[in-house]
Amino acid sequence: MPPRVNSAVIRRLNMVRVFHALRENPSASQAELGRLTGLDKATTSAVVTQLLEEGLVERTETARTRRIGRPETALNIAPSAGLLVGARLEPGTIRIVTATLAGTVIDHLELPGSTDLGEAVARLRDGIGRIVAMSGAGLPLRAIGVGIPGMMDRDGRLALAPNFGWRDTAIRPLLESALLESELGAPVHIDNDTKAAAMAERLFGACREVEDFIYLTGQSGVGGALVLGGRSYRGARGFAGEVGHLTVEPGGRLCGCGNRGCMEAYVSELAILAQAAERGRPLPDLWAVTAAARDGDAAMLGLLDEVGGRLGLALSYIVNLLNPELVVLGSNLSIAADFLLPPLERALERHALEPHRRGLRLLVSPLGPDAVLMGGIALAMEGFLSSPMPGADMLLG
Ligand SMILES: [Zn+2]
Repeated sequence: MPPRVNSAVIRRLNMVRVFHALRENPSASQAELGRLTGLDKATTSAVVTQLLEEGLVERTETARTRRIGRPETALNIAPSAGLLVGARLEPGTIRIVTATLAGTVIDHLELPGSTDLGEAVARLRDGIGRIVAMSGAGLPLRAIGVGIPGMMDRDGRLALAPNFGWRDTAIRPLLESALLESELGAPVHIDNDTKAAAMAERLFGACREVEDFIYLTGQSGVGGALVLGGRSYRGARGFAGEVGHLTVEPGGRLCGCGNRGCMEAYVSELAILAQAAERGRPLPDLWAVTAAARDGDAAMLGLLDEVGGRLGLALSYIVNLLNPELVVLGSNLSIAADFLLPPLERALERHALEPHRRGLRLLVSPLGPDAVLMGGIALAMEGFLSSPMPGADMLLG
């Protein structure tokens, strides 16, 4: 029954549009939602009715009145609509946040991480239990989103997480069954941490109006996400976006992937610290390297200039290929952005075609190192909105 399937898909898309419009424009009226989404009056009304019936949206009378007639009714995402959990799993730490269904953060929690899979899952489960008890107060737990520094395939299998030493792991069912045992049953959505962070920029950050952008992060490795036509581009198996392994120096520094001369081998925080140590500056983190450069340390100024140039060379391949509107430097790359951007721009001028560069914007992530954590919330929100809801068929009849 193709027409029925189509109408279900269209209804879902309309619902998601209205939901996001309301999230970004709290207290909008039904008429304003129609204008914001471009949906006609009858469709907007049907979607709003459904959202009200499901308890996701509530009406409140506002003091605002039309020039003539009844007071306008404001709509809002109901605070009682439920809770989202976002988490960032790293070898050393597990960070968890809760948010309302509208994406407003409620509580934070930080726990020690583990590279033992069973132990990491158990700690994450216990942490989710604690934070839900803290901020839940009887609210339904709608979805959990987890960002992890690893390659996730399209089926949610973790193919490889080099920092953890995990490969070919069905991490989502593991976590889901652990949560069910603790009576915390909720759908779990897991993705690569950089793709999750890019989704957070798209939903909550600098890329709300941007359809085509490249998002880069750099800690132990350099992660990349390609958002093309408003969607995260995943490639055939789900691994698209590994920009850290573009070669910028054939035969150069050894990379964690086993190849030589990858961009990551120069640009990740770990690689920057290794190069700083080789130049007689054994510094603890990227903040310290940046501080030394700010104090005029010529060796560190020279190093960051080289790093920005390598990053710009790798970016020029992507810009020539994909013609993005925006490139966002996120996570730890944002720390050194003042020093990375000038050489990066010079490299783009040298290697990217002029028509591509015209109108290309470079931006430091406003979410900064928190983007991955908000990425968990973004995964949870997207997952919740794309999963079937009770009563969703009601209006198809
Ligand atoms: Zn590599």
